[in-house]
Amino acid sequence: MGVQGSGKGTQSQLLAAELDLVHIAVGDIFRWNVQNHTKLGAQVRRIMAVGELVSDDLAEGVVKDRLAGHDWNYGFIIDGFPRNKRQAEFFLESYDIDGVIYLDLPDSEVRRRVLARRLCEGCGMDYNLIDSSPKVEGQCDACGGKLVLREDDTEEALAVRLREYHAKTNPVLDIFRRKEYVVTIDARQDKVAVQQAIRAALTLPLHRGQQRHDADADADRRSA
Ligand code: AMP
Repeated sequence: MGVQGSGKGTQSQLLAAELDLVHIAVGDIFRWNVQNHTKLGAQVRRIMAVGELVSDDLAEGVVKDRLAGHDWNYGFIIDGFPRNKRQAEFFLESYDIDGVIYLDLPDSEVRRRVLARRLCEGCGMDYNLIDSSPKVEGQCDACGGKLVLREDDTEEALAVRLREYHAKTNPVLDIFRRKEYVVTIDARQDKVAVQQAIRAALTLPLHRGQQRHDADADADRRSA
């Protein structure tokens, strides 16, 4: 969990890739439906564009359908859900939760990050012009697709999303805190440092990027 731009997508992808977890991003599923003009896409397009939350029934439906696939033998990491009290109660009643990662980022940093975010319209890969720019400007490294601003990454929609977040989503953390599920991570650090802090807090194996970094440092020390 965390405010817009706190790195939920980036960090959960890093966790999922190395730990054999299935990554489920509810916002990505909605965006896919909008892009592909499905019935669900038509139901959520306008609400998403202005930055409001879609109805709980639709959000819970997406989660239920996705998890009914049972392709998550080693578990799943979900980002963008739950976003309010009702969704949290549904989630707690329906699934076993091992932990909640709260990426703590001050609002002052949110605007800078979110307005620098770009999305590939082809494959949905996320970029940030601050510290993960594509090799070729405006073009996705993975599929060559065009990089665009998310429809809701505008000043106006961001203001609504932040309001929704503080009013509805942040209070959900208290429900999880009471169950002692929450680890709080300082999300102002760079992305590898955040990933390592998450793993340290949850006693998970180190991120391999860091292990390579440590191995390189060892090799440097040996050759010095
Ligand atoms: P995200 O990519 O997580 O920022 O989500 C983008 C948008 O999708 C949100 O601003 C909402 O309109 C919608 N959305 C995503 N997850 C949920 C959810 N759990 N409940 C309601 N709306 C959601």
